[in-house]
Amino acid sequence: EWSRVRTRLQTEVGEVEYRTWLRQLSLGGADGDEVTVLLPTRFLRDWVRSHYGDRLSALWQAENNRVRRVDIRVGQGAQPLAPSVAPPQSAAGTATETAAITDIANGAIAAGADALDDKNEGRGDGILLDPRYTFDTFVVGKPNEFAFACASRVADQPSSPGFNPLFLYGGVGLGKTHLMHAIAWKLQTSRRTGVPPVTVAYMSAEKFMYKFIAAIRNQSTIEFKDNLRSVDVLMIDDLQFLIGKDNTQEEFFHTFNALVDAGKQIVVSADKSPSDLSGLEDRLRTRLGCGMVADLHATTFELRISILEAKAAKASVSVPPRVLEFLAHKITSNIRELEGALNRLVAHSALFQRPITLETTQEVLHDILRAHDRRVTIEEIQRKVAEHYNIRLTDMASARRARNVARPRQVAMFLAKQLTSRSLPEIGRKFGNRDHTTVMHAVSRVAGLMEGDSAFAEDVELLRRMLES
Ligand code: ADP
Ligand code: MG
Repeated sequence: EWSRVRTRLQTEVGEVEYRTWLRQLSLGGADGDEVTVLLPTRFLRDWVRSHYGDRLSALWQAENNRVRRVDIRVGQGAQPLAPSVAPPQSAAGTATETAAITDIANGAIAAGADALDDKNEGRGDGILLDPRYTFDTFVVGKPNEFAFACASRVADQPSSPGFNPLFLYGGVGLGKTHLMHAIAWKLQTSRRTGVPPVTVAYMSAEKFMYKFIAAIRNQSTIEFKDNLRSVDVLMIDDLQFLIGKDNTQEEFFHTFNALVDAGKQIVVSADKSPSDLSGLEDRLRTRLGCGMVADLHATTFELRISILEAKAAKASVSVPPRVLEFLAHKITSNIRELEGALNRLVAHSALFQRPITLETTQEVLHDILRAHDRRVTIEEIQRKVAEHYNIRLTDMASARRARNVARPRQVAMFLAKQLTSRSLPEIGRKFGNRDHTTVMHAVSRVAGLMEGDSAFAEDVELLRRMLES
């Protein structure tokens, strides 16, 4: 239901509007005649409420006439598996697998039905590719150049010795899916005349599981196997999903072997390296590590800047370098979030006809920046710094002025200013109700010392890295 409503909405409002305002809309839950949908910020909620609220209700009622009200609220997005009906995703193990089977059988599980619905997909075995994810739009830098090179190589010459399977791994939002889609696009578009086209199957491991389960239910496993085994390139995204799903893993293992033995290319992504994917069967892990294993490393500041520059250029908006630096500095873990932040800035500036400045950035992204702060709290900083300099935690807030205590305290204030978006008075309060001028003094003192004393600077840098990781 939800996915149909979303698709309708997308068609109605058009791609650009949808991306700007509605992409982050997610299903919160359904309770009787009321449906709740969620957006991550108040700003988006208000906007969507006033501009799309009625449409949303109407579309929903068209899908399900029991629905009387669509409530739009601020909240964190549900995962693709609708949480109200789906088994908990984290509950690994066959329990989840069987639960999913039953749920699909009952027709109750949203994502299950979704995953089995191939109507809106390309030919072949469910290729659903994002047109923006190509090699051209992938910004290459130190952390991803190796993975990029491997992916390009596989796209140009699938099944080259040494590159099969290609195993891409890395944290969330670092470009695994992007690279996989890029491979598929390249393979699809670089068909040469006279040569039979390469058939590509791309799907998430989750989808692989649902297809497999559905095949069992429909007693069509032979067809399922034949289908998969007839492709030239099989790509499975987010393989870690199969951890604990023993039956599906087993099936994947056989498919994998059949394809590799027949000289077909396999590309797999996961959040960890094969050897770290504990919970996958040993023999599968061994085979996964047999080809090329490429790591997408955490982004560097330089790469984040390049990505932001590329995206800003693509959107033909001018964003001051200071703003790009600010974003690249604040949002470090996930390229998707970095993109999301930039998109929101651009949308906001277009909407209110205001140029993008550091001030509007801080205002518009208030919630995102706060969320990133939450990763490092002032308390954590105090604890780490006290530990590092071997002083008591209570001295962070004490009135003692001995230098062996005062200096670490200043370092902690400096780091609090750098790593959180707390104001000077707020920081002062956490350090025994000190005045904001004291904090200001500490910040400039530490910065000054760092310039003159490289050992001290290294020390502070080290602390910073420890706190950020
Ligand atoms: P993952 O699958 O590793 O979680 P994605 O491939 O979905 O991450 O990437 C998240 C977002 O960041 C996507 O919108 C993608 O286009 C973008 N992205 C990731 N890496 C790059 C890059 N090197 N250049 C441009 N965009 C990138
Ligand atoms: Mg992905």
